Amino acid sequence: MVGYNTGHLSSGVIEVVCGPMFSGKTEELIRRVRRSQIARQKTQIFKPSIDDRYHKTNVVSHSSLSIEAMPVKRSMDILGHLYDSTRVVAIDEVQFFDEFIIPVIRKLARRGIRVICAGLDQDFKGHSFGPMPELLCMADRVDKIQAICTVCGAAASKTYRKNLEESEAQILVGESDLYEARCSAHWDSHEQDQDLLAFTLSLESKAKVEEATHKEGQL
Ligand SMILES: [Zn+2]
Repeated sequence: MVGYNTGHLSSGVIEVVCGPMFSGKTEELIRRVRRSQIARQKTQIFKPSIDDRYHKTNVVSHSSLSIEAMPVKRSMDILGHLYDSTRVVAIDEVQFFDEFIIPVIRKLARRGIRVICAGLDQDFKGHSFGPMPELLCMADRVDKIQAICTVCGAAASKTYRKNLEESEAQILVGESDLYEARCSAHWDSHEQDQDLLAFTLSLESKAKVEEATHKEGQL
């Protein structure tokens, strides 16, 4: 078997942790990184340099867990900074990377590396974020986790942006000053959703009127 220099072929694994803001994605990424470090697997952590909340070189979760990470501008820079001995690569805020993150991750996995990615699956409008759709398709394992709706306390899959009048841009890096986790019912930035909500409400009130009329009829 010319070309194969090892007795066995180890294939890499692509893992994605996604969900809205405040769902604990970074915490989960850090948890997995810590475990691989305990197992003494050489681990490298990257994050896009666009995201400089809290700390310039650390990946920090909302609950203040942190781990050292290398900020990179372009996806390709990950390959440039990779050590030969690296067995695990973690990428936080993966939704902010350019489209080349897909071939970069594929290449890492082909080298036998375990790739752990964390990122927002949807933007505040509910549209898919950057490279996430393709990444979720090619992943071997996907965990979509939920936050808690700030309005009703139910499980939340959406990110709601406050102060919409300030900017409509998809990328506006911020924290709880700008964003909240919301359940679908309390996330209503779409006009059509408001229409749908109004429709549901009008059906509800219609049912109430009918109920009342029915009761009146019984009296
Ligand atoms: Zn809610």
